[in-house]
Amino acid sequence: MASNQPFDVVIIGGGIAGLSTALRLPEYMRVALFTKGQLGESNTRYAQGGLTVALGADDSSELHAQDTVAAGAGLCDENAVGILTEEAPEAVRWLIARGVQFDRAQPGRDEHATSDGLLLGREAAHSRWRVLHAGGDATGAEIERALMMALRQRASIAVFEETYVQRLRVEDGVCVGLEASNRDGQPFSIEAKATILANGGAGGLWLHTYAVSPDGAGCRRGIASHFGGGARRRRVSAQPRG
Ligand SMILES: Cc1cc2nc3c(=O)[nH]c(=O)nc-3n(C[C@H](O)[C@H](O)[C@H](O)COP(=O)(O)OP(=O)(O)OC[C@H]3O[C@@H](n4cnc5c(N)ncnc54)[C@H](O)[C@@H]3O)c2cc1C
Repeated sequence: MASNQPFDVVIIGGGIAGLSTALRLPEYMRVALFTKGQLGESNTRYAQGGLTVALGADDSSELHAQDTVAAGAGLCDENAVGILTEEAPEAVRWLIARGVQFDRAQPGRDEHATSDGLLLGREAAHSRWRVLHAGGDATGAEIERALMMALRQRASIAVFEETYVQRLRVEDGVCVGLEASNRDGQPFSIEAKATILANGGAGGLWLHTYAVSPDGAGCRRGIASHFGGGARRRRVSAQPRG
């Protein structure tokens, strides 16, 4: 089965990366988002430990970066760490504007909070209180919930659930779309001017990783098939965890 629908952008992945990318694109663009399970079923949903961001009065993105690089013990890409820590406060404000309810401090009970009342936690190698949670240990689930709701309100985004992307379509070295199979196993192809890989699972490529994905093997296969055997891979680290 072939589909001639041309999309401006196709996104593979319905976790935090895919959803936030889709929501940041202008509404005039025709966007398709693919997820191999139902929307909401992703590693993002299972993230529990929280999200680190320098929002405390005694904190800064430079300190956050220093702690991260120190905890990375030489394995961090310092440029990437710098970007992540510097952009984290804006990213958190963006999530809040999309409806994410981070835990708030109780006046008189919780000592560590941002000036606007977000509860700050501290753990592992962080030298400051800078861990946000939502619903206690349901941080990822809350982010996924809010972004899904925001996505459902965007008519310009077509969601292909339970649809497995098999491979990218490449012509003359340029990606022109993808091939997928729907929930009944029927293959089809989509044309797109731009294709974004947000299929997660990168942690599964490395020998040592702190969180075991319920879906690691599948995502690993996905990355391998999208990029091919000659993929250039770099190690990333975003959090100073113990
Ligand atoms: C148990 C656990 C706890 C964690 N705790 C934390 C934490 O406390 N703090 C933290 O910052 N991070 C934590 N993480 C890591 C965090 O969850 C991930 O880094 C993050 O969710 C990755 O988001 P993502 O959007 O890149 O990918 P995912 O959330 O993995 O989404 C991938 C998406 O791609 C889709 N997909 C993949 N392959 C295909 C294909 N071939 N065709 C169609 N769709 C496809 C999937 O269906 C899914 O929708 C934890 C992870 C786990 C597993």
